[in-house]
Amino acid sequence: MSEIGFDNEHHVPADRTAARVISTGFHWEPEPHWQNVHSETPLPMRKPANDEQRSLLGVKFGRFLVLGVAVAKNRIGTLYVCRCLCGRHEHKTPRAIRNPKNGRDACSACRLIASHRKHNFWLEYGVSRDQEEFL
Ligand SMILES: [Zn+2]
Repeated sequence: MSEIGFDNEHHVPADRTAARVISTGFHWEPEPHWQNVHSETPLPMRKPANDEQRSLLGVKFGRFLVLGVAVAKNRIGTLYVCRCLCGRHEHKTPRAIRNPKNGRDACSACRLIASHRKHNFWLEYGVSRDQEEFL
Protein backbone atom coordinates (compact mmCIF):
# COMPACT_ATOMS: atom_id res chain seq x y z
CA MET A 1 0.00 0.00 0.00
CA SER A 2 1.40 3.41 -0.91
CA GLU A 3 1.28 6.53 1.20
CA ILE A 4 0.69 9.84 -0.54
CA GLY A 5 3.81 12.01 -0.68
CA PHE A 6 6.19 9.17 0.11
CA ASP A 7 8.76 7.49 -2.07
CA ASN A 8 7.61 3.91 -1.43
CA GLU A 9 10.97 2.34 -2.03
CA HIS A 10 12.94 4.37 0.54
CA HIS A 11 10.20 5.61 2.91
CA VAL A 12 11.35 9.21 2.67
CA PRO A 13 9.27 12.20 1.54
CA ALA A 14 9.00 12.28 -2.26
CA ASP A 15 9.90 15.95 -2.62
CA ARG A 16 10.37 19.20 -0.69
CA THR A 17 6.67 20.03 -0.62
CA ALA A 18 5.82 16.59 0.76
CA ALA A 19 8.53 16.98 3.39
CA ARG A 20 7.07 20.35 4.47
CA VAL A 21 3.51 18.99 4.60
CA ILE A 22 4.36 16.04 6.82
CA SER A 23 6.91 17.82 9.01
CA THR A 24 5.93 18.36 12.65
CA GLY A 25 7.06 21.99 12.75
CA PHE A 26 9.35 23.77 15.15
CA HIS A 27 9.39 23.42 18.90
CA TRP A 28 8.75 26.84 20.36
CA GLU A 29 8.68 28.13 23.94
CA PRO A 30 8.30 31.74 25.05
CA GLU A 31 11.47 33.54 26.08
CA PRO A 32 11.93 33.24 29.85
CA HIS A 33 12.38 36.86 30.94
CA TRP A 34 9.19 37.43 32.88
CA GLN A 35 8.41 40.71 34.67
CA ASN A 36 6.64 39.03 37.59
CA VAL A 37 7.18 35.76 39.44
CA HIS A 38 5.74 33.29 36.97
CA SER A 39 5.07 29.58 37.39
CA GLU A 40 3.40 26.70 35.55
CA THR A 41 2.48 25.18 38.94
CA PRO A 42 0.67 26.84 41.89
CA LEU A 43 2.86 29.17 43.96
CA PRO A 44 3.11 28.75 47.78
CA MET A 45 0.30 30.45 49.71
CA ARG A 46 -0.43 31.28 53.37
CA LYS A 47 -3.57 32.08 55.34
CA PRO A 48 -4.83 35.66 54.97
CA ALA A 49 -3.79 37.68 58.04
CA ASN A 50 -6.77 40.08 58.11
CA ASP A 51 -10.10 40.99 56.48
CA GLU A 52 -8.42 43.33 54.03
CA GLN A 53 -6.33 40.46 52.65
CA ARG A 54 -9.34 38.12 52.73
CA SER A 55 -11.46 40.60 50.74
CA LEU A 56 -9.36 40.16 47.59
CA LEU A 57 -9.59 36.36 47.48
CA GLY A 58 -11.70 35.13 44.56
CA VAL A 59 -11.58 38.48 42.79
CA LYS A 60 -11.40 38.25 38.98
CA PHE A 61 -9.58 40.87 36.94
CA GLY A 62 -8.54 40.51 33.33
CA ARG A 63 -7.66 36.87 32.76
CA PHE A 64 -6.72 36.42 36.43
CA LEU A 65 -8.41 34.87 39.44
CA VAL A 66 -6.95 35.69 42.88
CA LEU A 67 -6.30 32.36 44.64
CA GLY A 68 -4.63 33.43 47.88
CA VAL A 69 -1.99 35.38 49.75
CA ALA A 70 1.54 34.55 48.64
CA VAL A 71 4.16 33.38 51.13
CA ALA A 72 6.65 35.67 49.40
CA LYS A 73 6.47 39.45 49.89
CA ASN A 74 7.93 42.27 47.89
CA ARG A 75 9.46 45.46 49.30
CA ILE A 76 6.07 47.24 49.24
CA GLY A 77 4.15 44.51 51.06
CA THR A 78 1.69 41.69 50.47
CA LEU A 79 1.58 39.78 47.20
CA TYR A 80 -1.25 37.58 45.95
CA VAL A 81 -1.11 34.36 43.96
CA CYS A 82 -3.21 34.75 40.82
CA ARG A 83 -4.04 32.14 38.19
CA CYS A 84 -4.37 33.14 34.55
CA LEU A 85 -6.96 31.51 32.28
CA CYS A 86 -4.06 29.66 30.59
CA GLY A 87 -3.29 27.94 33.92
CA ARG A 88 -0.06 29.76 34.77
CA HIS A 89 0.38 31.49 38.14
CA GLU A 90 1.81 34.91 38.94
CA HIS A 91 2.29 37.19 41.93
CA LYS A 92 0.27 40.41 41.86
CA THR A 93 0.14 43.39 44.20
CA PRO A 94 -3.20 44.49 45.76
CA ARG A 95 -2.81 47.74 43.83
CA ALA A 96 -2.62 45.85 40.51
CA ILE A 97 -5.67 43.75 41.45
CA ARG A 98 -7.78 46.82 42.36
CA ASN A 99 -6.63 48.93 39.40
CA PRO A 100 -9.64 49.32 37.03
CA LYS A 101 -7.22 49.83 34.11
CA ASN A 102 -6.11 46.19 34.52
CA GLY A 103 -9.44 44.92 33.18
CA ARG A 104 -7.62 43.16 30.31
CA ASP A 105 -4.57 42.02 32.32
CA ALA A 106 -2.96 38.67 31.48
CA CYS A 107 0.12 36.71 32.50
CA SER A 108 3.50 37.33 30.89
CA ALA A 109 3.21 34.24 28.67
CA CYS A 110 -0.22 35.27 27.36
CA ARG A 111 1.04 38.81 26.70
CA LEU A 112 4.09 37.47 24.86
CA ILE A 113 1.91 35.22 22.69
CA ALA A 114 -0.45 38.16 22.03
CA SER A 115 2.50 40.31 20.93
CA HIS A 116 3.60 37.59 18.48
CA ARG A 117 0.02 37.29 17.16
CA LYS A 118 -0.15 41.07 16.78
CA HIS A 119 3.13 41.06 14.83
CA ASN A 120 1.98 38.18 12.59
CA PHE A 121 -1.31 39.99 11.93
CA TRP A 122 0.65 43.09 10.92
CA LEU A 123 2.92 41.03 8.63
CA GLU A 124 -0.07 39.34 6.99
CA TYR A 125 -2.53 42.23 6.66
CA GLY A 126 -0.35 45.33 7.07
CA VAL A 127 -2.74 46.64 9.72
CA SER A 128 -1.72 47.40 13.29
CA ARG A 129 -4.19 46.33 15.97
CA ASP A 130 -4.20 46.75 19.74
CA GLN A 131 -2.32 43.90 21.44
CA GLU A 132 -5.25 43.28 23.80
CA GLU A 133 -7.35 42.13 20.84
CA PHE A 134 -5.08 39.10 20.53
CA LEU A 135 -5.37 37.94 24.16
ZN1 LIG B 1 -1.83 33.33 30.78
